[in-house]
Amino acid sequence: MRIQVITLFPEEFRRMVDFGVIGRALRDGRVRLETLNPRDFATDRHRTVDDRPYGGGPGMVMAVEPLRSAIRAARDSSVVRQPRVGLLTPQGRRFDQANARDCAKRGELILVCGRYEGVDERLIAREIDEEWSIGDYVLSGGELAAAVVVDSVARLVPGVLGDADSAAQDSFSEGLLDCPHYTRPENVEGDGVPGVLLSGDHEAIRLWRRKQALGRTWQRRPDLLQGRELNEQDRRLLEE
Ligand code: SAM
Repeated sequence: MRIQVITLFPEEFRRMVDFGVIGRALRDGRVRLETLNPRDFATDRHRTVDDRPYGGGPGMVMAVEPLRSAIRAARDSSVVRQPRVGLLTPQGRRFDQANARDCAKRGELILVCGRYEGVDERLIAREIDEEWSIGDYVLSGGELAAAVVVDSVARLVPGVLGDADSAAQDSFSEGLLDCPHYTRPENVEGDGVPGVLLSGDHEAIRLWRRKQALGRTWQRRPDLLQGRELNEQDRRLLEE
């Protein structure tokens, strides 16, 4: 997987993702993370990337150039024919697990981090394929949002997680929240572990986990179940 991130803060960005399982994936080459700084594409001696907004008002706007040159350089270096270019913006569609899965499958991704008041609308119209938000709040820049996207995509790249099954069992992978987890000790201040998990009966454990995942989703995120046809076994588990 190759991810190119266009950011005014390349070093800070790398530090945000270069640890834990994702850091290991960067080091072993399963995920290639490259950064491009729009300032390096500026043609004036101050390496200007922003300008005042037309119509007045506070703040600055990221200008079409040199951001466009940075995006084109990223596209040109791509080995896939049409790499997807995503802009992080609070005005975009909410980035979700299905998006992460799709990005991981495509193999290449270009992410653009905005700053200031945002990006000139004409750049969005010309160069951006997807506008993604990570939630209904406003951050100071797209870097934290892009780091969320990089992490969620990279962990779906084959071999990045130690146990190949753990991504498949995560919340949202099958449209459900994950089941609850327990580890040692068996007793925490009188609070035990559900007996079935100690039974060694793999089928009973599988059914218990499925029931928990369904029940949690029903209670906490009923929207995930809306419009979804449950199979016979899931219906029974939910009704039990
Ligand atoms: N004026 C813009 C607005 O209200 O839509 C907000 C600009 S914000 C201060 C600066 C940059 O942070 C944005 O261009 C975007 O790249 C990033 N950003 C802020 N909140 C975000 C969010 N919830 N999801 C993704 N990116 C976000």
